[in-house]
Amino acid sequence: MGHAATVDRALLAALTAAETTQFVTDHPACRSLAERGREHMPLGVPMSWMAKWPGGYPVHVVEARGAHFTCADGLDHVDLCLGDTGAMTGHSPAPTVRAVTEQVTRGLTTMLPGADAALVAAELTRRFAGTRPPALTQWQFTLTATDANRHLLRYARHVTGRPRVAVIDGCYHGSVDEAFATLDASGAVVERRGNIGAPVPPALTTAVLPFNDLVALEAALATGTVAAVLLEPAMTNIGIVLPDEGYHAGLRRLTREHGSWLVIDETHTLCTGPGGATVAWDLDPDALVVGKAIGGGVPVAAFGMTREISEQVDAAIELEDIDVGGVGGTLAGNALSMAATRATLAEVLTDEAFAAMSELATAWTSGVQGVLDATGLPWHVTRLGARAEYAFSPDPPHDGAQAGAADDFALQQYLHLHALNRRVLLTPFHNMALMSPATTPADVDAHTAAFAEAAAALTGRR
Ligand code: PMP
Repeated sequence: MGHAATVDRALLAALTAAETTQFVTDHPACRSLAERGREHMPLGVPMSWMAKWPGGYPVHVVEARGAHFTCADGLDHVDLCLGDTGAMTGHSPAPTVRAVTEQVTRGLTTMLPGADAALVAAELTRRFAGTRPPALTQWQFTLTATDANRHLLRYARHVTGRPRVAVIDGCYHGSVDEAFATLDASGAVVERRGNIGAPVPPALTTAVLPFNDLVALEAALATGTVAAVLLEPAMTNIGIVLPDEGYHAGLRRLTREHGSWLVIDETHTLCTGPGGATVAWDLDPDALVVGKAIGGGVPVAAFGMTREISEQVDAAIELEDIDVGGVGGTLAGNALSMAATRATLAEVLTDEAFAAMSELATAWTSGVQGVLDATGLPWHVTRLGARAEYAFSPDPPHDGAQAGAADDFALQQYLHLHALNRRVLLTPFHNMALMSPATTPADVDAHTAAFAEAAAALTGRR
Protein backbone atom coordinates (compact mmCIF):
# COMPACT_ATOMS: atom_id res chain seq x y z
CA MET A 1 0.00 0.00 0.00
CA GLY A 2 1.55 3.33 0.98
CA HIS A 3 4.71 1.98 2.61
CA ALA A 4 7.17 2.69 -0.19
CA ALA A 5 6.23 6.36 -0.01
CA THR A 6 6.64 6.57 3.76
CA VAL A 7 9.87 4.63 4.27
CA ASP A 8 13.01 5.15 2.24
CA ARG A 9 14.04 1.66 1.03
CA ALA A 10 17.77 2.37 0.90
CA LEU A 11 17.65 3.77 4.42
CA LEU A 12 15.66 0.70 5.53
CA ALA A 13 18.27 -1.64 4.04
CA ALA A 14 21.11 0.25 5.75
CA LEU A 15 19.35 0.31 9.11
CA THR A 16 18.58 -3.42 8.84
CA ALA A 17 22.21 -4.20 8.03
CA ALA A 18 23.39 -2.27 11.10
CA GLU A 19 20.88 -4.06 13.35
CA THR A 20 21.92 -7.44 11.91
CA THR A 21 25.55 -6.72 12.76
CA GLN A 22 24.49 -5.74 16.27
CA PHE A 23 22.45 -8.91 16.64
CA VAL A 24 25.36 -11.14 15.57
CA THR A 25 27.72 -9.31 17.94
CA ASP A 26 25.34 -9.74 20.85
CA HIS A 27 24.45 -13.40 20.24
CA PRO A 28 27.54 -15.60 19.69
CA ALA A 29 26.24 -18.40 21.93
CA CYS A 30 22.86 -18.42 20.16
CA ARG A 31 24.76 -18.54 16.91
CA SER A 32 26.72 -21.66 17.84
CA LEU A 33 23.54 -23.36 19.03
CA ALA A 34 21.91 -22.45 15.72
CA GLU A 35 24.88 -23.94 13.85
CA ARG A 36 24.70 -27.12 15.85
CA GLY A 37 20.93 -27.26 15.22
CA ARG A 38 21.54 -27.14 11.47
CA GLU A 39 23.46 -30.40 11.59
CA HIS A 40 20.33 -32.48 12.06
CA MET A 41 17.34 -30.17 11.69
CA PRO A 42 16.30 -28.42 8.48
CA LEU A 43 17.01 -24.71 8.99
CA GLY A 44 18.37 -25.63 12.43
CA VAL A 45 15.00 -25.47 14.15
CA PRO A 46 12.57 -28.09 15.46
CA MET A 47 9.77 -26.65 13.31
CA SER A 48 10.60 -24.89 10.07
CA TRP A 49 8.50 -21.76 10.70
CA MET A 50 10.72 -20.98 13.70
CA ALA A 51 13.30 -19.93 11.14
CA LYS A 52 11.25 -16.82 10.35
CA TRP A 53 12.85 -14.71 13.06
CA PRO A 54 14.93 -11.75 11.89
CA GLY A 55 18.67 -11.61 12.50
CA GLY A 56 19.85 -14.66 10.55
CA TYR A 57 19.19 -17.17 13.34
CA PRO A 58 16.75 -17.32 16.23
CA VAL A 59 17.69 -16.47 19.79
CA HIS A 60 17.85 -19.70 21.77
CA VAL A 61 16.11 -19.66 25.11
CA VAL A 62 17.78 -20.89 28.29
CA GLU A 63 15.00 -19.94 30.66
CA ALA A 64 11.59 -18.29 30.35
CA ARG A 65 9.75 -17.03 33.39
CA GLY A 66 6.77 -14.71 33.66
CA ALA A 67 6.91 -12.16 30.84
CA HIS A 68 10.68 -12.48 30.33
CA PHE A 69 13.18 -14.96 28.95
CA THR A 70 16.94 -15.28 29.02
CA CYS A 71 18.77 -16.28 25.86
CA ALA A 72 21.86 -18.46 25.60
CA ASP A 73 23.97 -15.29 25.65
CA GLY A 74 22.62 -14.48 29.10
CA LEU A 75 20.52 -11.53 27.92
CA ASP A 76 17.18 -10.82 29.57
CA HIS A 77 14.31 -10.06 27.16
CA VAL A 78 10.78 -8.73 27.53
CA ASP A 79 8.58 -11.30 25.83
CA LEU A 80 5.60 -9.75 24.03
CA CYS A 81 5.34 -12.79 21.73
CA LEU A 82 4.63 -15.20 24.56
CA GLY A 83 5.00 -18.29 22.41
CA ASP A 84 2.55 -16.54 20.06
CA THR A 85 -0.21 -16.98 22.63
CA GLY A 86 0.78 -20.42 23.97
CA ALA A 87 2.24 -18.57 26.95
CA MET A 88 -0.41 -15.86 27.29
CA THR A 89 -0.41 -16.86 30.96
CA GLY A 90 3.22 -15.77 31.28
CA HIS A 91 5.87 -18.48 31.27
CA SER A 92 5.49 -21.27 33.82
CA PRO A 93 2.73 -19.72 35.94
CA ALA A 94 2.96 -21.05 39.51
CA PRO A 95 -0.52 -22.67 39.75
CA THR A 96 0.01 -24.54 36.47
CA VAL A 97 3.46 -25.68 37.53
CA ARG A 98 2.04 -26.91 40.84
CA ALA A 99 -0.72 -28.89 39.14
CA VAL A 100 1.64 -30.39 36.59
CA THR A 101 4.19 -31.25 39.29
CA GLU A 102 1.51 -33.05 41.30
CA GLN A 103 0.37 -35.00 38.25
CA VAL A 104 3.75 -35.82 36.86
CA THR A 105 4.47 -38.81 39.10
CA ARG A 106 0.90 -40.13 38.89
CA GLY A 107 0.85 -41.00 35.22
CA LEU A 108 1.25 -38.78 32.20
CA THR A 109 -1.01 -40.43 29.69
CA THR A 110 -3.32 -43.42 30.01
CA MET A 111 -5.90 -43.03 27.24
CA LEU A 112 -8.46 -43.15 30.03
CA PRO A 113 -10.31 -40.21 31.55
CA GLY A 114 -9.58 -38.89 35.02
CA ALA A 115 -11.52 -36.42 37.13
CA ASP A 116 -9.90 -33.28 35.70
CA ALA A 117 -11.40 -33.48 32.21
CA ALA A 118 -14.97 -33.11 33.44
CA LEU A 119 -13.95 -30.22 35.68
CA VAL A 120 -12.35 -28.45 32.76
CA ALA A 121 -15.35 -29.12 30.50
CA ALA A 122 -17.64 -27.63 33.14
CA GLU A 123 -15.41 -24.58 33.52
CA LEU A 124 -15.29 -24.03 29.75
CA THR A 125 -19.08 -24.32 29.64
CA ARG A 126 -19.38 -21.67 32.34
CA ARG A 127 -16.75 -19.39 30.88
CA PHE A 128 -18.11 -19.25 27.34
CA ALA A 129 -21.67 -18.69 28.55
CA GLY A 130 -21.00 -15.44 30.38
CA THR A 131 -24.30 -14.31 31.85
CA ARG A 132 -26.44 -16.30 29.38
CA PRO A 133 -27.75 -19.78 30.01
CA PRO A 134 -24.92 -22.07 28.85
CA ALA A 135 -25.26 -23.13 25.21
CA LEU A 136 -21.89 -24.78 24.54
CA THR A 137 -22.22 -27.58 27.05
CA GLN A 138 -20.41 -30.47 25.34
CA TRP A 139 -16.58 -30.44 25.14
CA GLN A 140 -13.82 -32.54 23.61
CA PHE A 141 -10.07 -32.17 23.92
CA THR A 142 -7.16 -32.29 21.51
CA LEU A 143 -3.51 -31.31 21.73
CA THR A 144 -3.70 -28.43 19.26
CA ALA A 145 -6.20 -25.89 18.06
CA THR A 146 -5.48 -27.16 14.56
CA ASP A 147 -6.86 -30.56 15.51
CA ALA A 148 -9.87 -29.05 17.25
CA ASN A 149 -10.71 -27.13 14.07
CA ARG A 150 -10.11 -30.15 11.84
CA HIS A 151 -12.31 -32.36 13.96
CA LEU A 152 -15.18 -29.90 14.01
CA LEU A 153 -15.06 -29.47 10.24
CA ARG A 154 -15.21 -33.25 9.81
CA TYR A 155 -18.16 -33.50 12.17
CA ALA A 156 -19.94 -30.68 10.36
CA ARG A 157 -19.51 -32.33 6.97
CA HIS A 158 -20.50 -35.71 8.36
CA VAL A 159 -23.67 -34.46 10.02
CA THR A 160 -24.85 -32.00 7.36
CA GLY A 161 -23.82 -34.16 4.40
CA ARG A 162 -22.40 -31.06 2.72
CA PRO A 163 -18.97 -31.06 1.08
CA ARG A 164 -17.55 -27.58 1.65
CA VAL A 165 -16.62 -25.26 4.47
CA ALA A 166 -16.48 -21.48 4.38
CA VAL A 167 -13.52 -19.55 5.77
CA ILE A 168 -12.50 -15.92 5.74
CA ASP A 169 -10.02 -14.56 3.20
CA GLY A 170 -6.70 -14.06 5.03
CA CYS A 171 -7.60 -16.38 7.89
CA TYR A 172 -5.36 -18.76 9.78
CA HIS A 173 -6.69 -21.66 11.83
CA GLY A 174 -3.59 -23.83 12.11
CA SER A 175 -2.56 -26.37 9.48
CA VAL A 176 -6.14 -27.04 8.43
CA ASP A 177 -6.12 -28.00 4.73
CA GLU A 178 -9.39 -26.30 3.86
CA ALA A 179 -8.27 -22.94 5.23
CA PHE A 180 -5.30 -22.28 2.89
CA ALA A 181 -7.50 -20.71 0.26
CA THR A 182 -7.90 -17.18 -0.94
CA LEU A 183 -9.73 -15.20 -3.63
CA ASP A 184 -8.01 -14.15 -6.84
CA ALA A 185 -8.75 -10.88 -8.62
CA SER A 186 -11.76 -12.44 -10.36
CA GLY A 187 -13.20 -13.68 -7.06
CA ALA A 188 -12.32 -17.35 -7.70
CA VAL A 189 -11.12 -19.58 -4.85
CA VAL A 190 -7.43 -20.38 -5.31
CA GLU A 191 -4.55 -21.63 -3.17
CA ARG A 192 -3.08 -19.16 -0.77
CA ARG A 193 0.49 -18.10 -1.56
CA GLY A 194 2.95 -20.56 -0.05
CA ASN A 195 0.42 -23.38 0.32
CA ILE A 196 2.50 -26.54 0.68
CA GLY A 197 1.39 -29.72 -1.08
CA ALA A 198 -2.35 -29.12 -1.03
CA PRO A 199 -4.28 -32.39 -1.26
CA VAL A 200 -6.84 -31.07 -3.76
CA PRO A 201 -7.60 -27.70 -5.33
CA PRO A 202 -9.12 -25.66 -2.50
CA ALA A 203 -12.18 -24.63 -4.51
CA LEU A 204 -13.39 -28.22 -4.07
CA THR A 205 -13.40 -27.96 -0.30
CA THR A 206 -13.72 -24.30 0.51
CA ALA A 207 -15.76 -21.16 -0.01
CA VAL A 208 -13.75 -18.03 0.78
CA LEU A 209 -15.48 -14.96 2.17
CA PRO A 210 -14.11 -11.49 2.76
CA PHE A 211 -14.43 -10.61 6.45
CA ASN A 212 -17.33 -8.25 7.21
CA ASP A 213 -19.09 -9.20 3.96
CA LEU A 214 -22.58 -10.58 4.57
CA VAL A 215 -23.52 -10.43 0.88
CA ALA A 216 -20.71 -12.84 -0.03
CA LEU A 217 -21.67 -15.00 2.93
CA GLU A 218 -25.28 -15.25 1.86
CA ALA A 219 -24.30 -16.11 -1.71
CA ALA A 220 -22.01 -18.91 -0.50
CA LEU A 221 -24.59 -20.30 1.91
CA ALA A 222 -27.32 -20.19 -0.72
CA THR A 223 -25.48 -22.90 -2.69
CA GLY A 224 -26.51 -25.35 0.04
CA THR A 225 -23.02 -26.88 -0.05
CA VAL A 226 -21.52 -25.27 3.06
CA ALA A 227 -21.34 -27.52 6.12
CA ALA A 228 -19.80 -24.89 8.40
CA VAL A 229 -18.50 -21.36 8.51
CA LEU A 230 -15.23 -21.26 10.47
CA LEU A 231 -13.92 -17.89 11.56
CA GLU A 232 -12.14 -15.91 14.21
CA PRO A 233 -14.59 -13.39 15.69
CA ALA A 234 -12.00 -10.71 14.93
CA MET A 235 -9.20 -11.55 12.52
CA THR A 236 -5.84 -11.73 14.31
CA ASN A 237 -3.64 -13.58 11.88
CA ILE A 238 -3.26 -10.99 9.12
CA GLY A 239 -3.13 -8.15 11.55
CA ILE A 240 -6.15 -7.37 13.65
CA VAL A 241 -9.38 -6.75 11.73
CA LEU A 242 -12.37 -5.91 13.88
CA PRO A 243 -15.95 -6.84 12.98
CA ASP A 244 -18.42 -4.22 11.80
CA GLU A 245 -21.44 -3.51 13.93
CA GLY A 246 -24.04 -6.12 12.98
CA TYR A 247 -21.63 -8.51 11.24
CA HIS A 248 -21.89 -11.21 13.89
CA ALA A 249 -25.64 -10.90 14.15
CA GLY A 250 -25.85 -11.35 10.37
CA LEU A 251 -23.53 -14.36 10.49
CA ARG A 252 -25.68 -16.01 13.12
CA ARG A 253 -28.93 -15.32 11.31
CA LEU A 254 -27.71 -16.46 7.88
CA THR A 255 -25.91 -19.61 9.04
CA ARG A 256 -29.00 -20.64 10.96
CA GLU A 257 -31.27 -19.89 8.01
CA HIS A 258 -29.14 -22.01 5.68
CA GLY A 259 -28.39 -24.87 8.08
CA SER A 260 -24.62 -24.32 8.23
CA TRP A 261 -22.75 -24.63 11.52
CA LEU A 262 -21.27 -21.45 12.89
CA VAL A 263 -17.85 -22.32 14.32
CA ILE A 264 -15.98 -19.60 16.20
CA ASP A 265 -12.23 -20.05 16.70
CA GLU A 266 -11.28 -18.25 19.93
CA THR A 267 -7.71 -19.53 20.04
CA HIS A 268 -6.29 -16.00 19.74
CA THR A 269 -9.35 -13.89 20.54
CA LEU A 270 -9.43 -15.37 24.03
CA CYS A 271 -7.34 -12.25 24.64
CA THR A 272 -10.61 -10.28 24.48
CA GLY A 273 -11.62 -11.49 27.94
CA PRO A 274 -12.18 -14.55 30.11
CA GLY A 275 -14.92 -15.83 27.77
CA GLY A 276 -13.25 -14.54 24.62
CA ALA A 277 -15.12 -12.45 22.10
CA THR A 278 -18.03 -14.87 22.41
CA VAL A 279 -18.92 -13.45 25.81
CA ALA A 280 -17.57 -9.93 25.24
CA TRP A 281 -19.71 -9.50 22.11
CA ASP A 282 -22.58 -11.82 23.07
CA LEU A 283 -22.04 -14.32 20.24
CA ASP A 284 -24.02 -17.51 19.90
CA PRO A 285 -21.99 -20.08 17.89
CA ASP A 286 -22.88 -23.75 17.37
CA ALA A 287 -19.32 -24.69 18.19
CA LEU A 288 -16.22 -23.00 19.54
CA VAL A 289 -12.51 -23.78 19.45
CA VAL A 290 -9.97 -22.66 22.00
CA GLY A 291 -6.36 -23.75 22.36
CA LYS A 292 -2.84 -22.58 23.01
CA ALA A 293 -3.05 -20.68 26.30
CA ILE A 294 -5.62 -22.72 28.22
CA GLY A 295 -2.98 -25.18 29.46
CA GLY A 296 -0.57 -22.43 30.47
CA GLY A 297 1.89 -23.72 27.86
CA VAL A 298 1.20 -27.44 28.19
CA PRO A 299 -0.21 -28.73 24.87
CA VAL A 300 -3.99 -28.80 24.91
CA ALA A 301 -6.96 -27.46 22.99
CA ALA A 302 -10.69 -27.91 23.26
CA PHE A 303 -13.82 -27.65 21.21
CA GLY A 304 -17.26 -27.03 22.60
CA MET A 305 -20.55 -27.86 20.93
CA THR A 306 -24.17 -27.22 21.69
CA ARG A 307 -26.03 -30.25 22.98
CA GLU A 308 -28.02 -30.26 19.76
CA ILE A 309 -25.09 -30.71 17.39
CA SER A 310 -23.28 -32.97 19.82
CA GLU A 311 -26.28 -35.31 19.76
CA GLN A 312 -26.33 -35.19 15.97
CA VAL A 313 -22.67 -36.19 15.94
CA ASP A 314 -23.26 -39.06 18.36
CA ALA A 315 -26.22 -40.31 16.33
CA ALA A 316 -24.18 -40.29 13.12
CA ILE A 317 -21.21 -42.34 14.36
CA GLU A 318 -21.10 -46.05 15.24
CA LEU A 319 -19.15 -46.97 18.38
CA GLU A 320 -17.37 -49.66 16.38
CA ASP A 321 -15.93 -47.03 14.01
CA ILE A 322 -15.23 -44.30 16.54
CA ASP A 323 -11.44 -44.81 16.56
CA VAL A 324 -10.94 -44.90 12.80
CA GLY A 325 -13.18 -42.08 11.63
CA GLY A 326 -10.58 -39.35 11.37
CA VAL A 327 -11.29 -37.70 14.71
CA GLY A 328 -9.03 -38.37 17.67
CA GLY A 329 -5.45 -38.52 18.90
CA THR A 330 -3.63 -40.92 21.20
CA LEU A 331 -2.32 -38.28 23.58
CA ALA A 332 -5.44 -36.07 23.43
CA GLY A 333 -6.97 -35.40 26.84
CA ASN A 334 -3.87 -36.75 28.61
CA ALA A 335 -3.61 -36.37 32.36
CA LEU A 336 -0.90 -33.72 32.22
CA SER A 337 -2.84 -31.50 29.80
CA MET A 338 -6.00 -31.80 31.84
CA ALA A 339 -4.28 -31.01 35.15
CA ALA A 340 -2.55 -28.01 33.59
CA THR A 341 -5.79 -26.71 32.09
CA ARG A 342 -7.75 -27.12 35.30
CA ALA A 343 -5.25 -25.02 37.23
CA THR A 344 -4.67 -22.47 34.46
CA LEU A 345 -8.35 -21.70 34.01
CA ALA A 346 -9.09 -21.59 37.72
CA GLU A 347 -6.07 -19.68 38.95
CA VAL A 348 -4.21 -17.95 36.13
CA LEU A 349 -6.55 -16.79 33.37
CA THR A 350 -8.92 -15.19 35.85
CA ASP A 351 -11.26 -12.23 35.39
CA GLU A 352 -8.84 -10.01 37.34
CA ALA A 353 -5.91 -11.13 35.21
CA PHE A 354 -7.75 -10.21 32.01
CA ALA A 355 -8.64 -6.77 33.36
CA ALA A 356 -4.99 -6.04 34.16
CA MET A 357 -3.76 -7.44 30.83
CA SER A 358 -6.20 -5.25 28.88
CA GLU A 359 -5.03 -2.20 30.80
CA LEU A 360 -1.43 -2.94 29.83
CA ALA A 361 -2.41 -3.46 26.20
CA THR A 362 -4.12 -0.07 26.32
CA ALA A 363 -0.89 1.46 27.62
CA TRP A 364 1.08 -0.29 24.87
CA THR A 365 -1.36 1.06 22.27
CA SER A 366 -1.10 4.62 23.61
CA GLY A 367 2.68 4.38 23.61
CA VAL A 368 2.72 3.33 19.96
CA GLN A 369 0.11 5.94 19.01
CA GLY A 370 2.19 8.64 20.69
CA VAL A 371 5.19 7.67 18.59
CA LEU A 372 3.11 7.61 15.39
CA ASP A 373 1.75 11.06 16.21
CA ALA A 374 5.20 12.46 16.95
CA THR A 375 6.93 11.04 13.88
CA GLY A 376 4.05 11.32 11.40
CA LEU A 377 4.35 7.69 10.31
CA PRO A 378 1.03 6.97 8.57
CA TRP A 379 0.36 3.72 10.40
CA HIS A 380 -2.35 2.68 12.82
CA VAL A 381 -2.52 0.65 16.01
CA THR A 382 -5.41 -1.59 17.08
CA ARG A 383 -6.15 -3.30 20.36
CA LEU A 384 -8.23 -6.38 21.08
CA GLY A 385 -8.34 -6.94 24.84
CA ALA A 386 -4.86 -8.02 25.94
CA ARG A 387 -3.47 -8.02 22.41
CA ALA A 388 -2.43 -5.06 20.28
CA GLU A 389 -0.76 -4.53 16.97
CA TYR A 390 0.44 -1.77 14.69
CA ALA A 391 0.14 -2.04 10.92
CA PHE A 392 1.52 -0.10 7.98
CA SER A 393 -1.61 1.64 6.75
CA PRO A 394 -3.22 4.86 7.95
CA ASP A 395 -6.64 3.33 8.53
CA PRO A 396 -7.73 0.07 10.14
CA PRO A 397 -8.49 -2.57 7.48
CA HIS A 398 -12.00 -3.81 6.89
CA ASP A 399 -11.07 -7.27 5.61
CA GLY A 400 -8.14 -9.63 5.13
CA ALA A 401 -7.26 -8.38 1.65
CA GLN A 402 -6.86 -4.81 2.91
CA ALA A 403 -4.86 -6.01 5.90
CA GLY A 404 -2.62 -8.14 3.67
CA ALA A 405 -2.04 -5.24 1.27
CA ALA A 406 -0.56 -3.17 4.10
CA ASP A 407 2.04 -5.85 4.85
CA ASP A 408 5.71 -4.98 4.35
CA PHE A 409 8.01 -7.89 5.15
CA ALA A 410 11.30 -5.96 5.00
CA LEU A 411 10.01 -3.18 7.22
CA GLN A 412 8.57 -5.66 9.67
CA GLN A 413 11.83 -7.59 9.86
CA TYR A 414 13.69 -4.36 10.61
CA LEU A 415 11.29 -3.30 13.35
CA HIS A 416 11.37 -6.73 14.96
CA LEU A 417 15.14 -6.93 14.84
CA HIS A 418 15.46 -3.40 16.19
CA ALA A 419 13.19 -4.29 19.10
CA LEU A 420 15.00 -7.57 19.69
CA ASN A 421 18.31 -5.71 19.88
CA ARG A 422 16.70 -3.60 22.64
CA ARG A 423 15.64 -6.88 24.30
CA VAL A 424 11.96 -6.79 23.35
CA LEU A 425 10.48 -9.74 21.46
CA LEU A 426 7.45 -9.16 19.21
CA THR A 427 5.41 -11.90 17.53
CA PRO A 428 7.36 -12.82 14.39
CA PHE A 429 4.51 -13.07 11.90
CA HIS A 430 3.33 -9.48 12.36
CA ASN A 431 3.71 -6.48 14.66
CA MET A 432 1.80 -7.93 17.54
CA ALA A 433 2.19 -7.72 21.29
CA LEU A 434 0.38 -9.78 23.87
CA MET A 435 0.16 -9.01 27.58
CA SER A 436 0.27 -11.71 30.26
CA PRO A 437 -0.63 -11.58 33.95
CA ALA A 438 3.11 -11.28 34.58
CA THR A 439 3.70 -8.35 32.19
CA THR A 440 4.50 -5.02 33.89
CA PRO A 441 4.19 -1.35 32.89
CA ALA A 442 8.01 -1.29 32.69
CA ASP A 443 7.85 -4.05 30.06
CA VAL A 444 5.40 -1.95 28.04
CA ASP A 445 7.62 1.13 28.41
CA ALA A 446 10.62 -0.85 27.14
CA HIS A 447 8.72 -1.47 23.91
CA THR A 448 7.56 2.13 23.59
CA ALA A 449 11.13 3.37 24.01
CA ALA A 450 12.47 0.95 21.40
CA PHE A 451 9.67 1.75 18.97
CA ALA A 452 10.28 5.49 19.38
CA GLU A 453 13.95 4.98 18.54
CA ALA A 454 13.13 2.90 15.44
CA ALA A 455 10.55 5.40 14.25
CA ALA A 456 13.08 8.21 14.70
CA ALA A 457 15.66 6.26 12.70
CA LEU A 458 13.16 5.75 9.88
CA THR A 459 11.82 9.29 9.74
CA GLY A 460 14.49 11.55 11.22
CA ARG A 461 11.78 12.84 13.55
CA ARG A 462 11.01 12.06 17.16
N1 PMP B 1 -6.63 -21.00 15.34
C1 PMP B 1 -6.12 -19.76 15.35
C2 PMP B 1 -7.03 -18.60 15.31
C3 PMP B 1 -4.74 -19.59 15.40
O1 PMP B 1 -4.24 -18.35 15.40
C4 PMP B 1 -3.90 -20.72 15.42
C5 PMP B 1 -2.39 -20.60 15.48
N2 PMP B 1 -1.84 -19.37 15.26
C6 PMP B 1 -4.48 -21.97 15.43
C7 PMP B 1 -5.85 -22.08 15.38
C8 PMP B 1 -3.66 -23.21 15.45
O2 PMP B 1 -3.05 -23.42 16.67
P1 PMP B 1 -1.99 -24.60 16.80
O3 PMP B 1 -0.82 -24.20 15.97
O4 PMP B 1 -1.67 -24.61 18.26
O5 PMP B 1 -2.64 -25.83 16.33
